[in-house]
Amino acid sequence: MTAGAIRVEVFDTTLRDGLQVEGVSATVEDKLRIAEQLDALGVHYIEGGWPGANPKDIEFFARAARELDMTTSTLVAFGSTRRPRGKVDDDATLRNLVEAGTSAVCIVAKSSEYHVTQALQTTLDEGEAMIADSVEYLTGQGRRVLVDLEHFFDGYKTNPEFSLRALEAAVVKGASHVVLCDTNGGSLPHEVEEIVGAVHAHVGRDVAIGIHCHDDTGCAVANSMAAVRAGARHVQGTLNGLGERTGNANLTTIIPNLQLKLGYTCLPEGRIERLTAVSHHVAELLNRAVNPQSPYVGSSAFAHKAGLHTSAIARARDAYEHVNPELVGNGTRFVVSEMAGRATITMKAAELGLELDGPAVNGVIDDLKRLEHEGYHFEAADASLELLMRRASGWQQEFFRVESMRVITDELPNGDFTTEATVKVWVGNDRRVFTAEGNGPVNAIDLALRSALNGAYPQLDRVHLTDFKVRILDGAGATGAVTRVLIDATDGDRDWTTIGVSTNIIEASWRALEESIVFGLLHAG
Ligand SMILES: [Zn+2]
Repeated sequence: MTAGAIRVEVFDTTLRDGLQVEGVSATVEDKLRIAEQLDALGVHYIEGGWPGANPKDIEFFARAARELDMTTSTLVAFGSTRRPRGKVDDDATLRNLVEAGTSAVCIVAKSSEYHVTQALQTTLDEGEAMIADSVEYLTGQGRRVLVDLEHFFDGYKTNPEFSLRALEAAVVKGASHVVLCDTNGGSLPHEVEEIVGAVHAHVGRDVAIGIHCHDDTGCAVANSMAAVRAGARHVQGTLNGLGERTGNANLTTIIPNLQLKLGYTCLPEGRIERLTAVSHHVAELLNRAVNPQSPYVGSSAFAHKAGLHTSAIARARDAYEHVNPELVGNGTRFVVSEMAGRATITMKAAELGLELDGPAVNGVIDDLKRLEHEGYHFEAADASLELLMRRASGWQQEFFRVESMRVITDELPNGDFTTEATVKVWVGNDRRVFTAEGNGPVNAIDLALRSALNGAYPQLDRVHLTDFKVRILDGAGATGAVTRVLIDATDGDRDWTTIGVSTNIIEASWRALEESIVFGLLHAG
């Protein structure tokens, strides 16, 4: 990045637009934790929600003012212009916006003729006045006012005069930003570049131009980039592209594209390295895993299923990777399977910081071939692979030793099921016997093992299981069906996956669970 690079502001709307996604709901507590992550990443603006649309968002802004210590980001309350034919000073939406107490507010305004006349059922003059009055009122209250011009691109394509009138109304009354929204997400990059260019030629000297895209054509990132090329200096989007339908513009892709490829400054010095961690942490808070194939931050983004190319990649990573993954806090990963040769295993060992001699490497290759034949799949279970390789180097886990494990499921006369697990383990010379009830066998053995280790390893409090996947593999010949269990876990900073395989689903689960806990203890900071 060159000194004095052009700044492009990042406006994150994960907590407002992003939470429109199906199947996700966040508590006020979750939203506060996400805001902290966004501040740590260093975005300029964090849109916290729509106070007035729901009581949770009112509580969020009240608690954010008391509890959050923002160092880089400005918190923004979202709302809309006044109602048609209404007055600004008795408008509940505007009052809630002011009462949220943020220094900046963002209001959505209708900027397409069709939406003013059809959705609002009012005249274009009134549509313009709604924007002008609302911006004037909010700036009069000392707020910095950003205006999201809803359906701007669609409106501009049919009646550019009105869309520009709506935009000018905001500029004249002192809006700091006019944000052009592709609300339906149907625009394409060449259209966005052309229209933003026209707007920039029109008002680019008077106001900051922003862009807000949705991904309905799969072009939200490309459209945002096109807008910046055409003069936009403010980009709205969400972490991991969260949002309704196909999602919002994905900031975890846009930020590195703008900063690493085009030389714009989006985040303060030294922050882009946090991108991968923040992306995963926020996904965790929302219980929605990052797509492994996400550009820059996905677990597969820099994963090489090497084979023949392994040593070539090791020699010249930049020939196979479009950027250095460490720039965004990710890392090169060599995917290891039964196909792996000595070079791949040696490199994987180096990646993990292990020294394996020749016989140990051969041992790993033999183990992989045997276990993958039994149904293991180490590509998907990096943590189990690491433990296997450590064992090959002579390491043994000394956190605990299992004497026995038992799990019982009963059906009660009323039709309810109860599950109870008993685990007997040794921690050093201390024998611990614990029983726990759970809502299923895996939950019960997890709880029993944790209870047994409780006290000895307080760091386990941070480790929890995030996903549990079971696959029944085709019965090979007469041996019957084999069950493969994958368990995902996290300690908040690091995510990992372990695997267990057996004809017995409880045994497969127990193997994966035990390795998951061992891996968590091994890496607990
Ligand atoms: Zn939106």
